[in-house]
Amino acid sequence: MSSIDRTWSATRARISSVDPLHAKKLIDDGAFLVDTRPAAQRSAFGTIPGAVAIERTVLEWRLDPSSPDRHPRAQFGEPIVVFCQEGYSSVLAVDSLVQLGLRPVHDLAGGFDAWMAAGLPVTSADDLVAHNVEYASRFEQGTLSRRPTRRLAVIACMDSRMDLFAMLGLREGEAHIIRNAGGIVTEHEIRSLAVSQRLLGTEEIILIHHTDCGAHGLDDATWVDAIAAEVGVRPEWAPGGFGDLDDDVRQSVDRLRASPFLPHTDRIRGFVYDVTTGLLREVI
Ligand SMILES: [Zn+2]
Repeated sequence: MSSIDRTWSATRARISSVDPLHAKKLIDDGAFLVDTRPAAQRSAFGTIPGAVAIERTVLEWRLDPSSPDRHPRAQFGEPIVVFCQEGYSSVLAVDSLVQLGLRPVHDLAGGFDAWMAAGLPVTSADDLVAHNVEYASRFEQGTLSRRPTRRLAVIACMDSRMDLFAMLGLREGEAHIIRNAGGIVTEHEIRSLAVSQRLLGTEEIILIHHTDCGAHGLDDATWVDAIAAEVGVRPEWAPGGFGDLDDDVRQSVDRLRASPFLPHTDRIRGFVYDVTTGLLREVI
């Protein structure tokens, strides 16, 4: 066993380590929740709602109530829960805080990974807002027209693996992007396209479904029945599940071509995006 493993195990044995559910109870009761992970991990995974990000490198200086650099919430006697990504460095962090005289201080056993695995709530909103501030500081697209320069609208599934801008080489201001579960065409998409074509000058439509879609194989009737049984109300929307991917693309394109509300239906093409290769395959 390495020296750090021995030290870590001995430290863990003497500090308070709580499992995710116990930690949630402490947080709900008002414990000061501290996320010691670096920004890159917070960006990649999100964080626990209410957590204050104080990176490991400055932890003691920010949590010591007698430090001039203390966080406003740092005070003796305030219950603290500390977490990192996997629950290793947080053990040493908690020990260090206890040595400063802070208590009770708890380590979230297994870290953020264990919290996620337990199905407990996570949030990314604060991280996204912080990212936006940085984005706005180097923003140079403030004079673009609302009319897409390529006169193009793209309809696609909402799948998180499809970066439409990157995979199509699109940039801001060039196309309307309409996304939903499955990339299907309903009256809602027709509404958006009517605005796109009639008010904002687009003429061409590209429709993109993809492999491994969440709506693939979904049986609408069964799922709607299950929802109605659970909540007591039947949804007015159709889920949009489908059996054959190519058929669904053809059907969606047909629906667009048949719409009386769209003045431009001569340039509509339908594709399937392969999430394993990044390649588009034209269907129609
Ligand atoms: Zn999908």
